[in-house]
Amino acid sequence: MNAHFDIVIIGSGAGGGTMAHALASSAARILILERGDFVPQEDENWSPEAVWKTLRYRAREQWLDDEGRPFTPYTHYNVGGNTKFWGSVLYRLRREDFQAVEHLDGNSPAWPIDYDTLEPFYERAERLYDVHGETGADPTEPLRGPFPHGPVPHAEGMADIVGRLRGLGLHPSSLPLGVRDACVLCNTCNSFACKLHAKSEADVCGIRPAIARPNVTLWTNACARRLLTDPSGRTVEAVEVEVNGEVRRVSSSLFVVSCGAVNSAALLLRSANDKHPSGLANSSGLVGRRYMAHLATMMQGFHPFRRNADVFQKTVGINDFYLRGPGTPYPLGQIQSQGRTHGVMAQTVVPWVPLGAYEWWVARGVDWLVMSEDLPKLENRVTVESDGRIRLLYRPNNLRAHRRLVRETRKILRRLGFWIVMTHSHGAKNTTHQCGTVCFGTDPRASVLDSHCRAHDVENLFVVDASFFPSSAAVNPGLTIVAQALRVADHIKTTDLKLMEAHA
Ligand SMILES: Cc1cc2nc3c(=O)[nH]c(=O)nc-3n(C[C@H](O)[C@H](O)[C@H](O)COP(=O)(O)OP(=O)(O)OC[C@H]3O[C@@H](n4cnc5c(N)ncnc54)[C@H](O)[C@@H]3O)c2cc1C
Ligand code: SF4
Repeated sequence: MNAHFDIVIIGSGAGGGTMAHALASSAARILILERGDFVPQEDENWSPEAVWKTLRYRAREQWLDDEGRPFTPYTHYNVGGNTKFWGSVLYRLRREDFQAVEHLDGNSPAWPIDYDTLEPFYERAERLYDVHGETGADPTEPLRGPFPHGPVPHAEGMADIVGRLRGLGLHPSSLPLGVRDACVLCNTCNSFACKLHAKSEADVCGIRPAIARPNVTLWTNACARRLLTDPSGRTVEAVEVEVNGEVRRVSSSLFVVSCGAVNSAALLLRSANDKHPSGLANSSGLVGRRYMAHLATMMQGFHPFRRNADVFQKTVGINDFYLRGPGTPYPLGQIQSQGRTHGVMAQTVVPWVPLGAYEWWVARGVDWLVMSEDLPKLENRVTVESDGRIRLLYRPNNLRAHRRLVRETRKILRRLGFWIVMTHSHGAKNTTHQCGTVCFGTDPRASVLDSHCRAHDVENLFVVDASFFPSSAAVNPGLTIVAQALRVADHIKTTDLKLMEAHA
């Protein structure tokens, strides 16, 4: 079966779901292709066993690592993409993140746009995703207006920790969180789907309102296999898509690829043809390269005689070392409190320790996430094997900065009185903050997309998801993907859609 639409959006996560929402108000006939299905609202949404033991919602696919060994990536294929499972910490990048920054182990390049260009779209993104937060407490906060909603209040234990962090001379602030009215501040948020649909994510904030409109169609279980160009190679004519096992060809005037940083690069590479021999839109040779994913370490402060009674503890950010560390002029990254660890989650690390022992342990722990910027390197890349499988070559870098930040956080937690500080990292296999594989820029030789995420080589092709990041910064990427999607949608409305209307 063949079909024609004005716009085809491939992927329904932060990028694709937001694009769909922003373009839905136009007259364009829009098709969203999503390889997964809706995540059902069910008890398992909040079951640590289902989420962490049987991996009920994880992508079934395996990727290959740099040595060719298969691994299960930490990613999700469903309506809303990874946003369905995110912690909904929705930070703006800092003003400095848009500029070239020198790090301990190299340079983070400048973006082709600055903070002021994205600021109005950040504001709209925060409204669309119901972000709660406070201004004036974070020393790295860029110029901004008030948040759409006041901060999520700290639970009692966290409020006490915030006071003691201030006593240490630090500047803790409220995490910007995307939650909706129905939120009950439970202990199964980050890495879980919200059973109440109270989390701000691309399914409930983007896709559902979009498909309520008559001009927007969603095909689920629809995996895009290849993009097909016209004979000149300058425009994409159609996408070949597998829908429940049946291969269809969908033609369109405009294509938006939003499959996530790894899959968007893989789709372009799989779409190589005689005009694009090394992959679609890849005259720069950069498609798939410069993969980044953040350096992330989970830390837990433990005290045997202090039970942690807080249910929702993910409310505190510490950015004192974001722009420069203690004892170094270079940036180290961010510290944020993290959702409660469950015994079952801890048991996935060392499975032979009895669950009861873990439950006792985590009941006395306070969890933190320590995150640093990794730098774009050509050799860190996504490739596609001859059988179509994804291969991810990634050697983490800027490790000295991250280790310093982990050391500093350990010191802070000890000064807060925790007896033991545990650390854990998924290392190179943590694909949750994947970005950078189809980067935007002004020079077609040094970037794949222009500053509105349009491919330099293919005039009707946009890539709008975490792929466009020239650098990874050290805050969570989601809000920046959403803001840029809103900006690109505005651009499409005033350029491509105007042209289409004129020709109609
Ligand atoms: C557990 C977890 C916690 C996180 N917490 C946070 C947080 O607190 N704050 C934050 O900012 N970020 C967080 N992130 C990261 C955030 O979710 C991602 O950065 C964001 O979702 C990326 O958006 P995207 O549009 O690039 O891709 P995704 O949201 O992953 O969307 C890509 C979509 O494309 C679909 N797709 C892929 N290939 C194809 C194909 N060939 N055909 C059709 N469809 C396809 C996928 O199924 C998916 O739905 C978290 C991620 C995880 C996993
Ligand atoms: S109820 Fe609130 S805290 Fe719980 S999963 Fe939903 S959004 Fe997250």
